[in-house]
Amino acid sequence: MTTLFISDLHLEPAQPAITEQFLAFLTRTAGCADALYILGDLFEAWLGDDDPEPEYRRVIGAVRALRDSGTRCYFMHGNRDFLVGPRFGAESRCELLEEHTLVDVHGVRVLLMHGDLLCTDDVEYQAFRRMVRDPRWQQQMLALPVAQRAALAQQVKTQTRARVMAKAEEIMDVNQGTVEATMRRFGVHTLLHGHTHRPNIHRFELDGEPATRIVLGDWHTQGSVVRWDASGFTLESLPR
Ligand code: MN
Repeated sequence: MTTLFISDLHLEPAQPAITEQFLAFLTRTAGCADALYILGDLFEAWLGDDDPEPEYRRVIGAVRALRDSGTRCYFMHGNRDFLVGPRFGAESRCELLEEHTLVDVHGVRVLLMHGDLLCTDDVEYQAFRRMVRDPRWQQQMLALPVAQRAALAQQVKTQTRARVMAKAEEIMDVNQGTVEATMRRFGVHTLLHGHTHRPNIHRFELDGEPATRIVLGDWHTQGSVVRWDASGFTLESLPR
């Protein structure tokens, strides 16, 4: 019984090596697991479930094949693929998860998040997030032709890159106070997320008890996975 967690693959047609590594991971590694959780930013950008991009159709087909082979698949939105919708879920046979999801992983109560909600020092980003997560905004966006959405996404990407470069490193990391408040709110001592691209296992004390925050890495130059079975979890990198 093994449960796998990944995030921040940022798949895009311009980076075929990442897609190839992911497809190999699905058949070789995930095929032997009971469940695979994808905790956001599977895609560098998601224009909507109606995007005909062949590379994305291939990824959807591969995830579906994994599910058909018996591995349960779950998907949580990231800050790049927040427009993933029910059609993606149906086509990939992934169950879409809420932005806070509590799971029992081999007897441990774990809170799963993408991680962007924890970066509360980045006030500007949190305002952007509220806008793009608003169902009315999403409806308006999805009503535009795919090509127009692509042009808008490109604009946002360019602006974001400039802003990110101007921001201090620590602003884009999680806020420890927000981490602790969130863990208290959900009554957990274990939190697992991605987003910051700073893979690590943070151990600290929460209300007098040991607490753990596990951070997945991105797949930019190598893969990153948390493997969890009856004996516990390991955070591993996957050489390309
Ligand atoms: Mn992210």
